[in-house]
Formats: sequence, C-alpha cells, structure tokens
Amino acid sequence: MNSSAVFQTELAGNLTGLANKRSLLLRLIRAAQPITRTEIASRLEIDKSTVTDNVKPLIDAGILREDTLDSGGHGRKPRVLSFAGDRDYFIGVNLGVRRSQVGITTLTGEISDELDFETPKDVNAALGMVKDRIENIIAANPGNVLKTIGVSVPGMTDTDRSALIYAPNLDWRSVRVSDALQIDGVPIVVENDSTAAAMYEARMKIRHSSEGLMTDFILVRSGTGIGVGLVIGSEVYRGSGLTRGIAGEFGHMTIVAGGKQCVCGNRGCWERYASAAAAASLYLGDRPIRRGETLPRFVEIVAKAENGENRSRRTLEMIGDYLGIGIANVIMGIGIPRVVISGRLVYGWQFIEGPLREAIDRSIVGKTNGWSVEAGSPAGAALGGALEVAVESYLASV
Ligand SMILES: [Zn+2]
Repeated sequence: MNSSAVFQTELAGNLTGLANKRSLLLRLIRAAQPITRTEIASRLEIDKSTVTDNVKPLIDAGILREDTLDSGGHGRKPRVLSFAGDRDYFIGVNLGVRRSQVGITTLTGEISDELDFETPKDVNAALGMVKDRIENIIAANPGNVLKTIGVSVPGMTDTDRSALIYAPNLDWRSVRVSDALQIDGVPIVVENDSTAAAMYEARMKIRHSSEGLMTDFILVRSGTGIGVGLVIGSEVYRGSGLTRGIAGEFGHMTIVAGGKQCVCGNRGCWERYASAAAAASLYLGDRPIRRGETLPRFVEIVAKAENGENRSRRTLEMIGDYLGIGIANVIMGIGIPRVVISGRLVYGWQFIEGPLREAIDRSIVGKTNGWSVEAGSPAGAALGGALEVAVESYLASV
C-alpha cells in the first residue's frame, strides 16, 4: 500500500469512528460549498450515513446549514450543505519580508478589507501597525465575532505556534507575536509562511478537483527568500520533537559550495540563486550596483523578458535551472513527487518552467515517472495562507 492509500484508509477509519476528524469534513465543505451529502461521501470515500452522523450536530449547532438547491428543472431538488451565517469572522496577518497584509474572511466568503503596507524593519513598529489595524477592524464590526487571528511569518515558529524564532531576511529573533497582538483573549496562531501557503494551496486544490481530500505535495514558495511547505495526507507537516516548526527550511540548503554570501551566515544557499529576489543580482551579472542605479524588481525583469530582452530571459532561465536543481533535491529527500510553486516567482513562470523541468529531468527524479511541477498562486497565498491558518485552527476546535 502506498502512503496515500494508507492515509486514505486512516481517514476513512477516523471519520467512521467518531467526529474527531470532523475538521477534514469541514474543510471539504468549506472548499466546495454548496455541496451535497452524496458528493461528500463519494469524495471522502465514506458512507452517506457517516456523513449524516457527522453533519447533523453541526447543523443543530448552527455551524452548517442545509438548503434546497433550486436547479430550475423538475424532479427532486438536491439538498446542499454550506456554512451558516457571516457573523463569525477571522483576521489574517501576513508579515512579509518586503510587504505585509492584514485582511478578513468569513466561513462563507472570500478575503475582504485587505490592507497592504511596507513592512517596517523594526519588529515592534511592524507589530504595532498590525495591532492598530486589528483594533480598527474589531471596532468596525460591532455585531460580529472575531474567532481567530492567523499570522504568517517568514521564518521558523515555536512548537506551540505563538512565537517567531528567527526570520533571517528581517533579522527578527525570538518575537512573542501572539503576546504582542493579544486582544480580548482571541486565539492567535503563528505559522511559517510556506506552511501557511501550503494550507491555502491545499484548499484551492480541493476546490478545483473532483478528487477526494487526499493530497500529498511539496509547496515551494519563492519570493524574497525560498520556503518549503509539506502537505502529507492533506495535513501540513511541521516536523516533530525539537525540530517542530523548522521543517521545510530548505531555502538555506547549500546549492553552490563557497557561493554567494547569505543573510543566514552561510554561503551558496538555494534562495540566493532561485528566489525572485535573487533575480536582480543574476541580472546584473553579480557586478556591484552603480551609483544612482536601482536594482531591477522581479516584475520588471519579467516585463523585459516579455518584451524580448535577452538578458532578462537568460536571468529567468538561470533561476529556473537553480530552482529545478533544488526541487529535485527536495523531492529526493522527501519522496513526494508533486510540487506546487507559489510566490512572486510565478509571474515569470513562462520563462522559468522549461529550464526547471530540464534540471529535474537531469536528476535521478527525472528517471522516474509521475513527478509533476505546477504553478500555484503568485500573491494570494500570502494573506490567503494567514487566513487559512486562522480558519483551520478554528475548525479544528469546533
Ligand atoms: Zn542561507
């Protein structure tokens, strides 16, 4: 039995047993709402009566609602499940290396009321801005209930997901994020940004596929740095024991011996060669920047490549090559052959994809069948990931 089949069996077992894996069922309803009980049963490969047993208390508790879908035709109209009401809401905070976002979502809706700002270099200033925004949101929504705040951070988190241990690109260390943002006892969950993005992409996959919930994939997020999130059996993997929260720090694996200096103190790290931010120095050919010259932004390099400029195209091809080399290493290490790329880098996908695939093909991974690499969201996964953390944490508690 392969790992996916094992998880499938475990999932069915858990759902059949008690409502302790109710969160999986809720996740599917959230991703695919409105959805019939029959479709839930089929996608989770469980009995319809098991769906009913799990769903009924949630309808009674006012968390879910069941409506008759007016399909316009004759005959029996299907009954569909969705989340009830928009009174409960969630705040997501994405603390990015360059820019940060704060936004709101509900269980039925999409992201709304998004604020985007340049991330202050000083951590207290950044958290102060975020807290002000949260207080404004609460004041503007008097009749509604803020259930959970999800915060995604560009670095390692502690085991109970309340603090940021180290964000190399911001040089922030030991930041008690949930203490700093605490308001009215609302639960706050702090998550690594790549893990959060992986949670977001996992839900997008559920939405756009007719398959079950079972997905194993590696998320590679490339923006200012590179982070890796792991989704195994549709759950994100955070490492175990003392390394919980550190799983997926692949951006700092050495890819060029004695290579470029990295902010982490080492040389030749993957993110110095394959992140969107690495494009500027690759574009300049590693010569120092001239007086009065500004570093080209990633989207500007993509725009030049689209206009046919050779140097931009070559830069993006080099990034694709380095990214592919690293991805092949990650696939070999983890043993999951499906990869989703997210982050700013996705804007240059048309130029990056070819060399990336060639690099994977050259590796031992390329000798196997069934590996896949696809582009995910260039931007939505940032705030979307933070909101996902908030909602998932809440749904796990109902
Ligand atoms: Zn490094």
